[in-house]
Amino acid sequence: MARKLRVRVDHLLCVGNAMCETFAPNVFRLNDDRQSEAVNPEGDPEAQILEAAENCPMSAIIVEDAETGEQLFP
Ligand code: SF4
Repeated sequence: MARKLRVRVDHLLCVGNAMCETFAPNVFRLNDDRQSEAVNPEGDPEAQILEAAENCPMSAIIVEDAETGEQLFP
């Protein structure tokens, strides 16, 4: 079974270019202020979420193992 992730976006860093939505469209959604929100951490496979995090130009996405707290990105 896939491990559960905790996914957060640092809104002090996010510039709203929607790259994360492109990689993991079921996890990330831009709000009305063009800030990305992790609306459903289980919406896409872990690989896609990590790809989104790696491709965020601001490194604004933080991904952790929800159970162990291990930081997976950055
Ligand atoms: S890719 Fe990064 S900067 Fe762009 S919207 Fe997503 S979190 Fe924000």
